[in-house]
Amino acid sequence: MGKKAANDNVRVMVRIRPFNKKEIEEVGGIPTCTLECISDTQITCINPENPDITDSFPFDCIFWSMPPDQVRAPIPVADQPDVYKQVGVPQLESMFDGYNGCIFAYGQTSSGKTHSMMGYAGKGRGVNPRLCEELFQRIEDSKQKTVAPGSTETSYTVKVSFLEIYNEKVQDLLLGKGKGLNLKIIQDPKRGPVVKDLSEHVVTTWDEVEKLLDKGMETRSVAATAMNDTSSRSHAVVQISLDMEDSLGSVGGKKIARPRRSRANLVDLAGSEKVSKSKVEGAGLKEAIGINQSLTCLGRVIDGLIDGKTHVPYRDSVLTCLLSDSLGGNSRTTMLAALSPAAINYEETMSTLRYAARARKIVNKVKVNEDPAAALIRGLQEELAKMKQSVVSGDIEGLRIALGQGGEIGDLTGAIAMRSEEIEEMVAKVQLLEEREQEEEAVREEKWAVERQQIEEKHARELEAIKAEQEELGRAKLALEEEHEKLQTEVDAKRKIVMLDRLRQGGQVTKQKQQALQSQQDTDARSKKLKRDMLFNRFRNLSHKARYADYEQQHIPEQEADAAGLVATMESQLEALQQRVADLQAFDPNRDYAAEGVEGAMIPTTEVVFEGPLCDMCMEQPAQFRCLENPCCGDLYCVWCDANQHRAGPNRLHERTPLVAPCECCGAREAEIICPGCNNAQLCTICDDRKHGRHSRGAIVAVPCEFCGLRDAEMNCADCPCNLCMACDELKHRADKRQGHRRNRVPVAQLAPVKPSMPVARSRYPDAPPAPPGLRTTQVWAKNPYPDVRAQEVAMISPPTSAPPVASQVRTPYVQAAPSASLARQLDAQDGVMDG
Ligand code: ADP
Ligand code: MG
Repeated sequence: MGKKAANDNVRVMVRIRPFNKKEIEEVGGIPTCTLECISDTQITCINPENPDITDSFPFDCIFWSMPPDQVRAPIPVADQPDVYKQVGVPQLESMFDGYNGCIFAYGQTSSGKTHSMMGYAGKGRGVNPRLCEELFQRIEDSKQKTVAPGSTETSYTVKVSFLEIYNEKVQDLLLGKGKGLNLKIIQDPKRGPVVKDLSEHVVTTWDEVEKLLDKGMETRSVAATAMNDTSSRSHAVVQISLDMEDSLGSVGGKKIARPRRSRANLVDLAGSEKVSKSKVEGAGLKEAIGINQSLTCLGRVIDGLIDGKTHVPYRDSVLTCLLSDSLGGNSRTTMLAALSPAAINYEETMSTLRYAARARKIVNKVKVNEDPAAALIRGLQEELAKMKQSVVSGDIEGLRIALGQGGEIGDLTGAIAMRSEEIEEMVAKVQLLEEREQEEEAVREEKWAVERQQIEEKHARELEAIKAEQEELGRAKLALEEEHEKLQTEVDAKRKIVMLDRLRQGGQVTKQKQQALQSQQDTDARSKKLKRDMLFNRFRNLSHKARYADYEQQHIPEQEADAAGLVATMESQLEALQQRVADLQAFDPNRDYAAEGVEGAMIPTTEVVFEGPLCDMCMEQPAQFRCLENPCCGDLYCVWCDANQHRAGPNRLHERTPLVAPCECCGAREAEIICPGCNNAQLCTICDDRKHGRHSRGAIVAVPCEFCGLRDAEMNCADCPCNLCMACDELKHRADKRQGHRRNRVPVAQLAPVKPSMPVARSRYPDAPPAPPGLRTTQVWAKNPYPDVRAQEVAMISPPTSAPPVASQVRTPYVQAAPSASLARQLDAQDGVMDG
């Protein structure tokens, strides 16, 4: 009797692949594993971001394929033969029993589906090649067994097809590239879904199958993605059909056989992929969308089956259409869920696990694919064979039980004969039934052809509509692209403007910065120069002072001698003058002294007029230089004498100075301020204002000579209110009628009171020490604009010293040289001329 359809749950197994090179290189070691195997039927997925979140799933079998040096599990590492043993062998056995079967590998891209299903040559062969090889092995074994007497002879026919579903189109992979494209799937009432015009290759050995598989794999659509160098871009299905016929002998001269047929779909699905991760574009993106769509459809079918919906959307995709028998139909189905252990794939892994867990709830209705009439005859045949066996062995009791009645041998033989007749009748009926069924089959086929025609037409219409929609979409896309381009151009232009603005601003900022830097550098350079000049001037003045001090020290006796000489000269001059006065008093204009022969009666008529200090050498030109060197120290020279006489000889290297006292800081302007805090440094008001802010300072109260206005006064005349320099005193004051005036050689500062006609001593600072008595002071407060510079520079000049008493702050004349010997000689000579 034909067996009834039995319930059979989809078996779901899970395989965890090892970490691949990329995953290891990315983290520079073994990455975090998101999977934990609890037993060979339980797996836990751990959320890498929060390890407290875990999900456990039960499955029919877990294959832990990670090597122990990556992550260990409490179950042995499963390699390709182990997977085949659990996945492939039961399928093979049920194929021989006449059941349809299906193995499909599901999982994200690069999780090891193709590796498990197809594998690679040698030990790495996957389920498909192993199953095919063992199929022929078993056929061979079965042939060997039938050689034994009394055994049933079975003939086998194996056919192989290989197809792929690429972009929702079925393609035959065994006809070569460009052939067998766009095949249709039709529903065969007996065989279930079949691909129309799919080539079926009858094979008799494993070698033949291997060649076909290799050919198919070559044609299969694969491409490199960011996640898998040989990513399968299509769902590949190897279909193996096994036709078996058990020869049951003959009844009434007619051979009775028991035909069975089984078919296995070995499916390597394309991987679900996150486009963001696989980074596919263009055609790859279209493929990815197609793949993901058909997998979503598969998910919907699974959900529909679990929920017991009356309408399961098999027709929504080519894949589900083809697998409609394998899921919820007449098929022993195994799902192999391939998983990546990397934490980075946690989301996809969880999605696969949920998918697989749902698929496990699908219940298929399986039955042996055999002819019902042949099954009935086979049952009777088996019964008869048993009876005959009982007769031969004399097992009357067994025979009675088989026939279901008591009685003697004769009765039993009669019963057997009756049964034989019954069988013959039955065979005749079966034949009748078969004929009828064939007729019905023809009618059905006709009907089916009409239906098919209608479906094809409907498909064609749908295709047209889709194409029209595609064209519409294409046009919309073009319009969008144009708009995008336009916008992009605008954005680019705006970006350029912004960039230019930024560059301009940047340039300005740079320019400002450069200017600031330049001015800072200039200030630094100026301040350095000033500092250097200041130090230089200070050093020069100090060395001058030291030299003068030495000179004075050395020349005091000489000066005393000079002074004595001068006194003697003056006395003799006085004498001569007194003589002259006497002569003049005695002079009688009415007398003709020449006629009388009186000698020496000449009266001077010319007066020497001095308008400024004269050159000590020519005594004619205004003096412009003072020699600072010993032995002519203090002598004044005009430009001509300085160049031609003074410096023409060995005095060439003598240092000279202009007749004004220079500021010790800038060296260029005349000094007006004296600072006791800086070792009596003499400064011009500008340098004082700008750089010298710390110390109290006094005015330079040196009084200029009232005759020349250039040199400091060194003399005070007691008989006329004149402050004179030594030279003017000698050359002008005494040459004048004021020869007899008494003069004091005292420091000017000690003169009192100072006349209002004197230059005003200035003190610009309120904290300046009081001016010497008799000097009028003007107080002007000026805010110091450079406090820092000033403090530093002043500090460099010299440390502040306590201010000396006011009297000593008074500047001594710039040069306190005594009239030189040469000057004395000149004066003598002049006097002599005059006298003469
Ligand atoms: P899928 O078909 O799921 O996209 P593949 O089967 O092509 O992925 O596997 C991707 C890569 O991972 C291949 O290089 C394959 O050799 C390797 N791989 C997958 N599973 C295993 C495994 N169990 N052991 C070793 N390598 C594996
Ligand atoms: Mg693959």
